[in-house]
Amino acid sequence: MARPECAWCGRLPLGPYEVSMQDERTCVAHGAASRCSLCGRPRPPGPGWYEPFRRRPRCPTCSVGAVDTQEQARRHIPGVRADMAALGVSLDRRVRVTLVDTMPTIDGASPTGLTHSFKETGEVIGIEVLSGLTAVHFGQTVAHEIGHAWLIERGAAVTHPVLVEGLCEVFASAWLKKQPGALPPRLREAMATNPDKTYGAGYRVVREAVVRNGIRKVLHALCVTGRLP
Ligand SMILES: [Zn+2]
Ligand SMILES: [Zn+2]
Ligand SMILES: [Zn+2]
Repeated sequence: MARPECAWCGRLPLGPYEVSMQDERTCVAHGAASRCSLCGRPRPPGPGWYEPFRRRPRCPTCSVGAVDTQEQARRHIPGVRADMAALGVSLDRRVRVTLVDTMPTIDGASPTGLTHSFKETGEVIGIEVLSGLTAVHFGQTVAHEIGHAWLIERGAAVTHPVLVEGLCEVFASAWLKKQPGALPPRLREAMATNPDKTYGAGYRVVREAVVRNGIRKVLHALCVTGRLP
């Protein structure tokens, strides 16, 4: 449960305060210059915040159980795979998930995951995930990328980026829905209100199709015709 005190000054906020994705309060009056790159909490002066070399600040709350090493990633991957299989998205071939310290910027956005494949053969080479994420962000990212790998493995007809990314966001959202804590529902909310024309718009249009037709019909249509039913 959220603590009523401000995470910055430790006092009960007397004026307006904001609430981070981790459910922590901060008085608006502090006027932070930077924020946690994962939960958006304003960064107070002083130590205790982790800053990987790529200069993405991470608050102490998001640092608990974060996935910084390949070893830590290995502990989380089987669970995400099993969760995705339970949702009907399982890969025939095991795809390796590798942690990386940087991601390329694509269309002004910096993704937290990438799936590599051979265009000619449709063979998935592997999944890369940015290091330093919380376990929840990590799982969300792996779920999204397993979606890409699944579409490639099936030779799905869908190629339009809005539908491809939208469907993978729907997969990630379905994974988040089954996770406990304050962060998962906030991340789902952020997906639903994401202003991005590919990820946000895609999520909304695919989700609407799922609500109308059911997931099976949507997956079948995207795999066979490349369009929504
Ligand atoms: Zn305060
Ligand atoms: Zn944080
Ligand atoms: Zn994607």
